Amino acid sequence: MKLEIPQIIPHIDKKMHLSWQKELANVVTDPKILLEMLNIETKNYLQHFKARQLFPVRVPRPFIKKMQKGNINDPLLKQVMPLFSEFLITEGFIADPLGEHDTAVEGLLHKYKHRVLLIVKSGCAVNCRYCFRRHFPYADNSPNKIRWQQALDYIQQHEEITEVIFSGGDPLMASDEHLAWLVSQIENISHVKRLRLHTRLPVVIPQRITASLVKLLSKTRLKTTMVLHINHSNEIDKALSSSLELLREARIPLFNQSVLLKGINDQAQVLSQLSEKLFDNGIQPYYLHMFDQVQGAAHFDVPEKQAVKIAKEMMMILPGFLMPKLVREIAGEANKTPINLA
Ligand SMILES: *Cc1c(COP(=O)(O)O)cnc(C)c1O
Ligand code: SF4
Repeated sequence: MKLEIPQIIPHIDKKMHLSWQKELANVVTDPKILLEMLNIETKNYLQHFKARQLFPVRVPRPFIKKMQKGNINDPLLKQVMPLFSEFLITEGFIADPLGEHDTAVEGLLHKYKHRVLLIVKSGCAVNCRYCFRRHFPYADNSPNKIRWQQALDYIQQHEEITEVIFSGGDPLMASDEHLAWLVSQIENISHVKRLRLHTRLPVVIPQRITASLVKLLSKTRLKTTMVLHINHSNEIDKALSSSLELLREARIPLFNQSVLLKGINDQAQVLSQLSEKLFDNGIQPYYLHMFDQVQGAAHFDVPEKQAVKIAKEMMMILPGFLMPKLVREIAGEANKTPINLA
């Protein structure tokens, strides 16, 4: 019997081929448009939109694609949707919960002995409402080559620094050319062994993993790792998977940190599902951060008692190697503080 071989006409989604810069230029900044794209009636939410004054709305379209239509409680939408409750002043919630506004030199945080965090770029592609850097004085720390040079000089002078972490904002907001320059400068500092990138950009614009970026990260003498920021398994779609595949092929170890967020991922089942999906995509769960008590985002806070309960439940569901460490960052501490689960 002869089999009919169906003719496969490749379906090319042109939008997938927009460059990351084009996606960046095309981010949704109007919450009304955001809700309309999701077929959600906007009139009930107009008062919430005012929270844009506190922290602008920014949502890349590839991230919106992963949200469920018609669902105002979608776990991805909730991360970016402005809410009126951001105006509430909550006791104990401050603008700078991590004591980060005083930097070693402008744009460089040296809180932990052997590693420094370099603010490569101040902005992000997405504005997460719970961001602990929502009040960060980026204007004073807005990086440029002169500031990067100061940071490089500082790293050169501190031989105890073995690892440089590119952070932000989001370091992948910088162009590949700028990153290449920075990496080459750091390579010249012999006591630096490792380079780490803390980024959420590939999650919201998967096209950011360009061939030139992968090449740059794989050919440096520095041992390079990438720590992604994914809070919910729905954030991992095909587009992200294929982008990450490029990094895996280049043997760049991938890790993930999540923030424990009320109403988004504060259930053992949800977080376990995330860990499993991370593993399926070659990403090792790393940290589960207690929410940093930043002013204007108290509605995301999960009390420590509840967090411990969730983590214990996760341990019953997950193999040990898929269990992220539950930590809190305490201003002035020499490392992230593990939460005692006993
Ligand atoms: C989180 C953080 C680091 C990295 O800490 P690890 O425990 O190595 O992941 C470094 N510097 C600062 C300022 C940080 O907040
Ligand atoms: S990507 Fe990270 S730094 Fe940027 S807004 Fe979101 S949480 Fe903040």
